[in-house]
Amino acid sequence: MKKVTRKTFDEVMVPNYNPQTIIPVSGKGAYVWDQTGQKYIDFTSGIAVNALGHCHPALIDALETQAKKLWHTGNIFTNEPALELAQLLTGLTFAEKVFFCNSGAEANEAALKLARKYAHDHYNHKKHQIISFYSGFHGKSLFTVTVGGKPESRRGFKPVPGGVVHLPFNDIDALKATLSEKTCAVILEPVQGAGGVIPATADFLHAVRHACDQHNALMIFDEIQTGVGRTGKLYAYMHYGVVPDILTTAKALGGGFPVAAMLTTTEIAKSLHFGTHGSTYGGNPLACAVAKAVLKMTDAALLNQVSKRHKFLIQELTRLNKKYHVFKDIRGLGLLIGCELNEQYAGKARFFLQTSITQCRYRYIAYYSATHYI
Ligand SMILES: *Cc1c(COP(=O)(O)O)cnc(C)c1O
Repeated sequence: MKKVTRKTFDEVMVPNYNPQTIIPVSGKGAYVWDQTGQKYIDFTSGIAVNALGHCHPALIDALETQAKKLWHTGNIFTNEPALELAQLLTGLTFAEKVFFCNSGAEANEAALKLARKYAHDHYNHKKHQIISFYSGFHGKSLFTVTVGGKPESRRGFKPVPGGVVHLPFNDIDALKATLSEKTCAVILEPVQGAGGVIPATADFLHAVRHACDQHNALMIFDEIQTGVGRTGKLYAYMHYGVVPDILTTAKALGGGFPVAAMLTTTEIAKSLHFGTHGSTYGGNPLACAVAKAVLKMTDAALLNQVSKRHKFLIQELTRLNKKYHVFKDIRGLGLLIGCELNEQYAGKARFFLQTSITQCRYRYIAYYSATHYI
């Protein structure tokens, strides 16, 4: 086979991504090595996925052990790793029931379908409105881009599913004015990730919970980015004392192996009764064995480290900012931290990253999400 390079990407791949010129071929902890053997510090973390670093020995062991036993059964059978992972997840959270799938978008798809179905089962067909928030991100499937708070993501893909209303995030008045008996669910990220690291205020989350209870709407927390220790708690809702009805988790859950889950209560789960929803790979033994190892690693000591490093990063970023005055705001929870650039640098995040990469003593690869943030 001809040696592949970044150029090969343009020849044989759909152009929906624009990857870096280097191709990482191996990784260990925070480092990756490219095709020439050059070492880099990986600041991208697989976009909030490799929370335990590359090739963690505990995850390799879990994967190798399971690989020699059983790879796939399909949902004709259940399997031990899936059941054990579900026991762990329900033991560690508010949830009593778990649905497994393979990606964040799929977990949100399941959550949104469940909310619609629950309203259909208990109320009437008019109760189908889904409320979500500007700059929220929930995935790239048609339903999840519709619920997402960026109209650009829907451009060219219409018609999209109906019944979705977008409101400003952290705006209690707008929420109260909109949420009604027609609302079947409110979906939000406790800290908006891709939208620019915008934490919900505690008052806002309490107000959403209250309004949902008043009007029998379900509260869905998309914790695909905030989950599995990223914010210093296992799930971000644990910072706020607000418990959702449905929670979605993915990204760091598999530490790099594709796995996702939707968590909910026994009562709500009843609406996804036999035959209503499914996924061929959901609950795959390899994925669940790895996720089990990830959850076991994400213990009190690790969460404590996240909080310690949060303090260190905020302190050092603040110190840098005193010297260079580039950030309007430095914010976030745990290791989900965003630095908003001052007005004069708006839209230049990519330029900042590229300059710092070329001037840095260490080689590294970095990632920024929203245009105004690094
Ligand atoms: C990444 C992300 C998703 C989508 O997950 P995929 O695995 O890419 O489908 C959904 N919601 C949030 C908050 C995310 O950060």
